[in-house]
Amino acid sequence: MTLREARLLLRAILSKGGVDSPGREADILLSAGAKLTSAEIFSRPDALLPPSAADRLFALARKRVEGKPLQYLLGEWEFYGRALGVAENVLIPRPETETVVDKALEVFSGGTFLDWGTGTGCIALSLLLHRPTARGIAADINPAALSTAWKNLGRYGCLGRTLLWHSRTPGDIPCPEGSLDLLVSNPPYIPASALPSLQREVRHEPRTALDGGPDGLACYRMLLAWCPQRMKMGGRVLFEVGDGDQAERLREIAPTSLKCSGIFLDLQNKPRSILWIRV
Ligand code: GLN
Repeated sequence: MTLREARLLLRAILSKGGVDSPGREADILLSAGAKLTSAEIFSRPDALLPPSAADRLFALARKRVEGKPLQYLLGEWEFYGRALGVAENVLIPRPETETVVDKALEVFSGGTFLDWGTGTGCIALSLLLHRPTARGIAADINPAALSTAWKNLGRYGCLGRTLLWHSRTPGDIPCPEGSLDLLVSNPPYIPASALPSLQREVRHEPRTALDGGPDGLACYRMLLAWCPQRMKMGGRVLFEVGDGDQAERLREIAPTSLKCSGIFLDLQNKPRSILWIRV
């Protein structure tokens, strides 16, 4: 089979299997399965695909049409300009979260931060890489996430500035009073009742990273109750949110020692983060 034939067949399989962007995903899978760059694939469409590569490729395509996210099949995904390892049982970094990192970098020039619910470590890593003097605690309830974050932070030489912490509730984090310049979190925020109607790909992701309790706000409540004591005066609290209603609810329930600085949009113009300053 030539690369051109493999590409067409792959595209047809993905399209029939209900994958949203079959052309784009076929190209990505072909380059991963055949271990070729897209430039090599386009410049040599008549080159033969070795049988071992074809087997690998069509095994991946089968899993993809069963609904497994492309990112898990590849084992790697880009976030904020860096390739990060992703693993099953760990939330896949989303482009929306890059806008939360943008906001964090606007208000955080260095110092100490906590990234609660770090997942792959994507937020913590981006902050550490852009703020070379910063130190962070990257916490997660899920050991698989901590192991993935550990690998990602190690890959980019940031482990020496990070404390990885297994945390069920913020209260179990060894964080002295008044020590944090920034608390950033993308906690699970999907209301439990909405979980069954998520896209089939998202249902492959860990429930611990998605399930925000009955109204989606359970983790925010814990963080908001815990954080004022741990923040420095003038420190910032920044949360990713699911939508504008959630952001408004959070603005209402936040303690008075946090002054809201605004609700910010993502690249699709949807409310995606909310920021406070500790006063
Ligand atoms: N943004 C994710 C989604 O919509 C949810 C992640 C989260 O709950 N923090 O699938």
